[in-house]
Amino acid sequence: MNDEMPAILAVDDNPTNLNLLFDVLDKAHFEVLISQSGESALKRAENAKPDIILLDVMMPGIDGFETCGQLKANNVTKDIPVIFMTALADTVDKVKGFELGAVDYITKPIQPQEVLARIKTHLTIKQLQGDLRQKNQALSESLEREKELNDLKSRFISMASHEFRTPLATILTSSNMLKRYEDRLSSEKKLTHLGRIEGAVKRMTEMLNDVLTLSKISAGKQKYSPEAVPLIEFCHNIVEEFRLISEETHIIHFSPPDQEFQAQVDPNLLRHILSNLLSNAIKYSPESRNVYVELSRTDSAISFRVKDEGIGISEDDQKHLFEAFHRGANVDTIKGTGLGLSIVKQFVELHEGTIDVESKIHQGTTFTVHIPLVEKLK
Ligand code: ADP
Repeated sequence: MNDEMPAILAVDDNPTNLNLLFDVLDKAHFEVLISQSGESALKRAENAKPDIILLDVMMPGIDGFETCGQLKANNVTKDIPVIFMTALADTVDKVKGFELGAVDYITKPIQPQEVLARIKTHLTIKQLQGDLRQKNQALSESLEREKELNDLKSRFISMASHEFRTPLATILTSSNMLKRYEDRLSSEKKLTHLGRIEGAVKRMTEMLNDVLTLSKISAGKQKYSPEAVPLIEFCHNIVEEFRLISEETHIIHFSPPDQEFQAQVDPNLLRHILSNLLSNAIKYSPESRNVYVELSRTDSAISFRVKDEGIGISEDDQKHLFEAFHRGANVDTIKGTGLGLSIVKQFVELHEGTIDVESKIHQGTTFTVHIPLVEKLK
């Protein structure tokens, strides 16, 4: 509905009636549209979508009833309230009008006060119905979010009961060994057990952090704080960190553009995105394979590409790759929770970007992240 000036379509074949209606409505500051036949009213209503239609019953060509029926059968016009204009004594007409979906009637000869009172009532009802529809929509969206969150929670419980067993068993075994054989264990062995405990705790913490991040995202509470970041230096630092950890197992190549440039991104989220893709590239490739990280830019976007020569992802798995807890059928004993990529995708989307995957089993995988940066590149 037009807030300032509601539009009323008056339909009557009698010019005297139309003139009278026009005057009354115009004086009351409505936008007045007029039609002299059912056929033209149907077109007018579809194009102009008035807030209310005043419809005469007796007209040559298609009469008011037929017009009303067609208005109600058309998705574009079906919700526009129709008020019939009918002769005082015509109870049969009034009933038929209601049956066809009209919301009210006014009696002829037309009384200006009555016309205005009915129109006001139905405009208010229409407004309230609109508000109700919006509230219903908001309610069903929040129910949907709640459902997703619940779904996430139950999947977490089944993941946790499964995935936490191994690190918990490791902690229990190693701490038992340390307690029982405290005197007999060499300090080297003790350090090994402590390292295992530390590793298991780290793994569990990572899993918990991932789940917390996901639930934060689902609840719409994940912060996105972009700032100007020099991207070559930023990517270089991440690549260096990974080179240190995996220098004996993988060769990481980094190709940046020629010149340093700054872009508005959230450094924490971007770090998470790149680290996750890089750690997957390493985790899912056999030793001594290459991993390529490419950073490129155009005037309107930046792209990150992480390419590996690893186990690959089947076409079936590619379809579900970004769903929480989904893991490829070929992961074998490689550890994971299936949470990383779903977080990555949502972080990319917070940047209004996209992420794509290309992959062939046994040949390798390439993830490409595009982040649009209209007017943000320096
Ligand atoms: P996780 O690695 O903890 O299982 P992710 O969400 O990071 O979780 O990845 C989901 C799944 O996608 C992985 O289980 C794996 O099957 C597949 N995957 C991700 N990255 C790669 C990659 N570079 N090469 C092969 N498979 C991958």
